[in-house]
Amino acid sequence: MTKNIKIPMTFQSDEKGYLDRQCPNRNCEFVFKINMEDWKEKMHGDVHCPMCGYIASNDQWYTDEQIAVIRKNARNYAVSMVQSMLSKSFSRLANSTRNNKYIKIVYKPSKKISIRNNPIGQREEWNLDITCEQCGTRYSVIGSAYFCPCCGYNSVEQVFNDSISRIEKMIEAQDFMYEKLADEYGVDEANKMCRSMLEGTLGDIISAFQKFAKENLVHKSELDISKIKVNDFQIISKGNDLYDKHLRKAYSTCLSEDELTFMNILFQRRHILEHNDGIVDEKYIEKSNDLSYAIGQRIIVKKEDIICLVEIIKKLTNFFRE
Ligand SMILES: [Zn+2]
Ligand SMILES: [Zn+2]
Repeated sequence: MTKNIKIPMTFQSDEKGYLDRQCPNRNCEFVFKINMEDWKEKMHGDVHCPMCGYIASNDQWYTDEQIAVIRKNARNYAVSMVQSMLSKSFSRLANSTRNNKYIKIVYKPSKKISIRNNPIGQREEWNLDITCEQCGTRYSVIGSAYFCPCCGYNSVEQVFNDSISRIEKMIEAQDFMYEKLADEYGVDEANKMCRSMLEGTLGDIISAFQKFAKENLVHKSELDISKIKVNDFQIISKGNDLYDKHLRKAYSTCLSEDELTFMNILFQRRHILEHNDGIVDEKYIEKSNDLSYAIGQRIIVKKEDIICLVEIIKKLTNFFRE
């Protein structure tokens, strides 16, 4: 016969009222915090990982630290239970043999082990507090998050703003990173690493824009989501036509001719960086009309270009939001 034993253990929230949780998906193991009241009141079924979107029942979200504390408490509890069981049966045995002249068992109770369940403490508070636009659940993460742990809602606005501010910080930190990397690895390596970081940010801006543009269009026009693809916004003219047709928001309403040309050039540069290792080919020249490169040259991404593109993207997405 198995018997379930309930071990009294209490979780304590941190000073901001959050409880630590960890994604059970082995590929992710993202640690986040959730408001203690929201956890108790709303999270009775499935929980969504804010980072990877993995879904699992609410009893699977203990952090590694919490599991270690739970194990320790359970062990202590079991030891003390066995001790008290032994002490009971020995004293019974001692009693029953009291009048037996052949066997004499005398039992002296030993000192009892007492258990203090250490409240399971939390980590220090984090910075990014998020309240779900959809269900109001309050949670906190380091860095950024994509899904509400309670309802799984993916906040496009939140994700986009996070990406843009991260990109802006990366650009700001370029000189600082260059110096540090040069000290550590020498000027040549530092140059290569910074260049590859800048190329990365170009890709990041464009993919953040594509996702935002798609979700925003689908949301505002109530179009069938399966009809619109994220990649439709990789091509400026295609995205422009979609916004013009469904929302009467042609890009040119808010961007100048020069800005549109520049945006197109950088989108094409990203494409060639991704698909042809940055080596200019005929198609690139044809699609971008970029006369500053000859076929066979390699694209150079400049910090100033990234700053300029971020400004254009912000202008355009603000226009989409209106
Ligand atoms: Zn996860
Ligand atoms: Zn939610």
